[in-house]
Amino acid sequence: MTKLYELTAHQTIQKIRSGEVTAKECVESVFEQIHKYEPKVNSFVTLVEEQAIKKSKEVDQKIAQGKTVGQLAGVAIAVKDAICTKNITTTCSSRMLENFVPPYDAEVVERIKKADGVIIGKTNMDEFAMGSSTETSYFGPTKNPWDLSTVPGGSSGGSAACIATDEAMLSLGTDTGGSIRCPASYCSVVGLKPTYGLVSRYGLIAYANSLEQIGPMAKDVSDCALFLSVIAGHDSKDGTSVNEPSKDYTQFLKNDVKGFRIGVPKEFLGEGTNPDVEKSVWNAIHKLEELGASYEETSLPSLDYSLATYYIIAMSEASSNLARFDGLRYGYRIEKDEGDWATVYSKDRSKGFGAEVRRRIILGTYALSAGYYNKYYLKALRVRTLIRNNFQEAFKKFDIIVGPTMPFPPFKIGEKIQDPLALYMSDVDTVSANLAGLPAISVPCGFSGNLPIGLQIMAPPLREDLTLQAAYTFEQNTAFNKQKPSLD
Ligand code: GLN
Repeated sequence: MTKLYELTAHQTIQKIRSGEVTAKECVESVFEQIHKYEPKVNSFVTLVEEQAIKKSKEVDQKIAQGKTVGQLAGVAIAVKDAICTKNITTTCSSRMLENFVPPYDAEVVERIKKADGVIIGKTNMDEFAMGSSTETSYFGPTKNPWDLSTVPGGSSGGSAACIATDEAMLSLGTDTGGSIRCPASYCSVVGLKPTYGLVSRYGLIAYANSLEQIGPMAKDVSDCALFLSVIAGHDSKDGTSVNEPSKDYTQFLKNDVKGFRIGVPKEFLGEGTNPDVEKSVWNAIHKLEELGASYEETSLPSLDYSLATYYIIAMSEASSNLARFDGLRYGYRIEKDEGDWATVYSKDRSKGFGAEVRRRIILGTYALSAGYYNKYYLKALRVRTLIRNNFQEAFKKFDIIVGPTMPFPPFKIGEKIQDPLALYMSDVDTVSANLAGLPAISVPCGFSGNLPIGLQIMAPPLREDLTLQAAYTFEQNTAFNKQKPSLD
């Protein structure tokens, strides 16, 4: 018999609404799973069990009284620890914010609450979302449920692992250069980075504002569309929020790709792509072709510069954003603050931030400093425009652009962390969507041995419908999504 924690969010909502099960039973079932697997996987930094059970009872009460309930009624939802939650510690997996309790909710969290979703905890991540493996967390790495000796991807590693293990039904991730799609691919779940500006960033602790988006992570494409419908839509508190009314994205869950024109840039499948990844992605493209789409190999030459461009822009923005953590107003503070302001500031930050965060602050500061600004930062902004134009051109010809999410399958914990450049290279296929502000989804499309492979589908700005429809069709006609890791 199917256990409650195994259900998808849309199945759960239906059962709760019809009175077949209670929200409390569903949330309790998810916590059973958490207690069983957390010691092995470490998806969470903070759990709020009592609060979650209380909320689930409120949902049950509403239903018992015949009141209407929200779109996410009774669904157990995990939130990445970079997103502010009122009265719940929000650490960004950093010592710097170990004890930070926000006095307010991020807009996305408020929307979840209004939709009667049940927040169960905060998920582990790379410190300040800087990384692709969840190894830089101050609270220790998250393990990949498919093979505990490998990384779950990052930076939203906890948000992906908890979906793969049924420790949550939905989760929120953030994606600055791939942090939703990379762990979705590595844990064989679905993750969508929305168009820049579609989801409010109000209450997200910033890493690189011009690149990042909050987005849904889920067990299947239907759940992903449902969750996006709740969190997307204009927010006047975010100056970059696009003026789009909210939409029901589940209307795009059509099992049909007839007439879809697919572009396959050779830059995504070039040198350095693992042969198993290449094979699975081509199989996926042929599957879509069999279902009525057509494809053409193409070239987006500016993609060769996307990684360098991304890292200059991301680190520059990070160095500016993270200047606010001075240990004086809030954040980690060394016990004895002797000396002048600069000494205290420097000591707090040396101890409060981990090595990767410090490296990026230094590199970003360098790229922005007088004499280097034109050479690095300004040049990167120009190349960013070229990349955006290149995509714009390509989308005149294609409805969607497809490739691998990650160039290689999950790697061993400890394998790349000593070599930052090797780790940065793993983002080669994901960063261009952030530079161009495009929607991009990762869906499970194969395995290399026991290790998951993800297919990335990109579309023009605000065409989440195309990514969802193509991903849904692929999912409905394949069985990759049905496979689960075995942890016992
Ligand atoms: N791995 C990329 C980085 O380290 C992307 C991280 C992210 O999307 N937050 O910057």
